[in-house]
Amino acid sequence: MSLYAASGFLPRQDAAITKHWLPEEVDLLLAKQGVSKEPVNIASLAMKLGMTRIVEKPLRGAGALVPGGHGFTIVVNVNQVHTRQRFTIAHELAHVLLAPDSKIAWRKGPTVADKRLESYCDLLAADLLMPLSRFRQQLRRLSSCTPHVFMTVKNLANIFDVSLTAAAIRFVEAVEEPCVLVVSSREKSSGKWKVGWFRQNTLDRHGNPKHFIRPGTHFPVWTTAHIGPAHIDMGSLSGTYYVESHCFGAAKRYCALTLIFPQRTS
Ligand SMILES: [Zn+2]
Repeated sequence: MSLYAASGFLPRQDAAITKHWLPEEVDLLLAKQGVSKEPVNIASLAMKLGMTRIVEKPLRGAGALVPGGHGFTIVVNVNQVHTRQRFTIAHELAHVLLAPDSKIAWRKGPTVADKRLESYCDLLAADLLMPLSRFRQQLRRLSSCTPHVFMTVKNLANIFDVSLTAAAIRFVEAVEEPCVLVVSSREKSSGKWKVGWFRQNTLDRHGNPKHFIRPGTHFPVWTTAHIGPAHIDMGSLSGTYYVESHCFGAAKRYCALTLIFPQRTS
């Protein structure tokens, strides 16, 4: 099963998607373009694949793809951090790779199909920045050095020059054992932690995601800075599991990434 299917996302036929990319095809594309080591030089790759310029500007969103001349200009938000800008370049490049012959690669709008398209671009962006085979290789190497998962995820983020969140999502996709990533943030008014979103690689026998955690569910505060077994009780994810959490942010906004391993108890 492809990662796209495993993540519960199957792109439907869409005018803005005329070419589907499997992770192995992305590996081949990178090899063909002479990308042989990480971190992937995403700006150089984008230029090789038909982008004419990459410019930094103040933007309301993360980035934009502007058609013109013989290709596209990628605009990235000058106020965002380097790793976010790299992801934006990969995301905008993904729009073009998904519809190489289409004039509407840059189409934007609020429809459901566009939301799916944006999710698909994010998946392809992750494949470009963190090629699966190389990510797995590094994951195996680093895991043999330390049992601490977040130490490994931090090292992966450094090696691939991506954000910790992007590396954590990729970790869930690449790791061999069942794993759920929960992203929560602290409410300013109440100080309570609430689940924002989650990702998992755990599937039931029909291939559907096994666990569901309702966004907004309260998250026990102690688990936001924790390594070891913990009792989790969040809907279909209920029991004592091995948990690692990493908390980051500043006074205005605290976030926590929590990795839960449903088949590990210690
Ligand atoms: Zn987009």
